[in-house]
Amino acid sequence: MPACIIDASAAATPTVVSGGGCPPGFAFSNNNDIVEHLSLPLPDFFSGELFPTNTTATAMTTEWSPSHSSELYRIDKWGPPYFSVNGSGNITVNPFGDATLPHQEIDLLKVVKKVSDEKSNGGLGLQFPLIVRFPDVLKHRLESLQCAFDFAVKSNGYGSHYQGVYPVKCNQDRFVVEDIVKFGSGFRFGLEAGSKPELLLAMSCLCKGHPDAFLVCNGFKDAEYISLAIIARKLAINTVIVLEQEEEVDLVIELSRVLGIRPVIGVRAKLRTKHSGHFGSTSGEKGKFGLTTVQILRVVRKLDAVGMLDCLQLLHFHIGSQIPSTTLLTDGVAEGAQVYCELARLGACMRVIDIGGGLGIDYDGSKSTESDISVGYTLEEYASSVVRAVQVVCDRKGTNHPVICSESGRAIVSHHSILVFEAVSSTAAAAPPAMSPSELNYLVEGLPEEARGDVRSISASVTNGDYDACLLYADQLKQRCIEQFKDGCLGMEQLAAVDGLCEMVSSALGVSDSVSTFHVNLSVFTSIPDFWGIGQLFPVTPIHKLDQRPGVRGILSDLTCDSDGKIDKFIGGESSLPLHELRESGNFGGGDGYYLGMFLGGAYEEALGGVHNLFGGPSVVRVMQSDGPHSFAVTRAVPGPSCGDVLRVMQHEPELMFQTLKHRAEECLHNNEDDTATLANGLARSFNNMPYLVAGPIASSCGFINGNNNNVNGYHHPYFCGAEDSCNGNAVEVANGEDEQWPYVCA
Ligand SMILES: *Cc1c(COP(=O)(O)O)cnc(C)c1O
Repeated sequence: MPACIIDASAAATPTVVSGGGCPPGFAFSNNNDIVEHLSLPLPDFFSGELFPTNTTATAMTTEWSPSHSSELYRIDKWGPPYFSVNGSGNITVNPFGDATLPHQEIDLLKVVKKVSDEKSNGGLGLQFPLIVRFPDVLKHRLESLQCAFDFAVKSNGYGSHYQGVYPVKCNQDRFVVEDIVKFGSGFRFGLEAGSKPELLLAMSCLCKGHPDAFLVCNGFKDAEYISLAIIARKLAINTVIVLEQEEEVDLVIELSRVLGIRPVIGVRAKLRTKHSGHFGSTSGEKGKFGLTTVQILRVVRKLDAVGMLDCLQLLHFHIGSQIPSTTLLTDGVAEGAQVYCELARLGACMRVIDIGGGLGIDYDGSKSTESDISVGYTLEEYASSVVRAVQVVCDRKGTNHPVICSESGRAIVSHHSILVFEAVSSTAAAAPPAMSPSELNYLVEGLPEEARGDVRSISASVTNGDYDACLLYADQLKQRCIEQFKDGCLGMEQLAAVDGLCEMVSSALGVSDSVSTFHVNLSVFTSIPDFWGIGQLFPVTPIHKLDQRPGVRGILSDLTCDSDGKIDKFIGGESSLPLHELRESGNFGGGDGYYLGMFLGGAYEEALGGVHNLFGGPSVVRVMQSDGPHSFAVTRAVPGPSCGDVLRVMQHEPELMFQTLKHRAEECLHNNEDDTATLANGLARSFNNMPYLVAGPIASSCGFINGNNNNVNGYHHPYFCGAEDSCNGNAVEVANGEDEQWPYVCA
């Protein structure tokens, strides 16, 4: 009658987790090897002996440290120089990269607590999910890019300079774009736009930029787009209209004549160099964008004919995003440089070579040139490959070295923002049911004879040590009982008993499916659309508890009623993520949350996200390094869109909806004023709150019972909340002046 099912020493031997990479002692028994280590027989199921509730956790006693987590989650690979794990087991942000001093490190958990704690506790009371932006990181990225090119220019004796632009499509957030213009004005950093609204925002932002900064106008254009771009030159913004379609040249010629302004023109060349990864499908001869050689020649002749060939000053091409290797990069840039030199030879007044985007991010830290989520080069290597490729071609052709422009988007904005969300509950798939053997016995006895036969066979094969047979009989029992349940011959209690018995068997044999599902307060469609859309992986890790061994593996399932709303692929080729067990009741009921972070997602995800199930965007805060007691200051905090906001996106009118419901309340409550007011209050709050789940005690999260009846007169707007909450569902302006610091002054 042994109580221990699995030999503890055997269970502690590291059972392999696919992908290797795990620190010693990190064991998950989800393969069959463990069966071979069983040194004690399974007890007779009917002997009255209890199974231990968690065989894996009890066996793992090896020490665990933050550095184990750093290795396990590969933070040591993708994190530097911005992210690491501190001694408390929390994620640390190094706002100035390698130049961050120890006292400047920011503990991400402290930020999250400050932002999400209720106002009554000194927090900002913002709801999850949450985007935490670090403008310092953005600045560091921008400066690193500029430095890498400056160094390559200098060390190669290149005859011109680098002057980049930020393609606003990567993240059009006002503060991100304004920051880039501000941080980059010292080195003439500009913007790239691909649509009319992007052009409008770029024009207005660049009014504060360096006068030489480029405004590169890409994308498909109509007369209005081109007029705006021409007007921008009149406003002394250094605008370049890049011809993306041959027809655009006619509009440019005509509109510049009408408006009386000479434009600066670029052409986008369709290169023959092809990028074969996911992001390269638009490159190459058959690509979606750019002009073929034939078309470029026609454009040159046309411009020449109207005396505007001197307006053609820039050559643009874009090999694709996330260029995997410098080999491909050099190949593409050299081809582009040839086109550049040819245009100069044909009489265009060429000045700038714009190599497009494509500077990649190493999302898994593997430095691989073979994967869509990694790149095999550093910033410095990228810059030096570009500079050398242009230089070699131009020198050979005797063409003056052009200004080198790049449109690096992903590389600039990916690191600066972190998506933080909570795990609210989990289904520990492998947990054997809490059922005593006598209960089990009783239920099993009520099974039909064939099923009882299966149970006897299971018991017999356990005694013989034939575990394969045991599993087969368990499966047979289960299938048989499911059929009988469907036929109406078996009650729910009996079916549950059978499920429990089978789960006990597989868990005791270490073959149970030990991957749990963690429910996360998030919509994948809204916040990680590229995972859903193109299978793009981002590093995801708990942002705390990294000093503790993660005891389970899980996948993340989101709030949407959609089976695709889940994250079940992770960097490192993993199909589940090591996670820490949630407390029994889950996290919902208050207390400490379990917070996960998705990193390197600052590019593309925000604008691509939709409102599936009417889950809107996350709350957003800006956090700066500050030399106060907590090394950071929250400079801006904006709650995510409310239920009212997302309803409006779909043409609903929340104010009218509220009125309708309120009238109904008056009818149903027979004009009892107090009750109606309470109910209306609750409704108003629901319209005004974010669509995501709210953890914590019922009273503070539910507007219908928190006794706010007295406040009803405070609701001056038909449904917006009164003074204590933010009105308009928009910015909680936390400071009067822009970016005036709001220090973290909690004790
Ligand atoms: C999307 C895009 C970019 C940005 O590419 P990244 O790989 O994010 O740097 C640059 N230029 C053009 C034309 C683009 O379409």
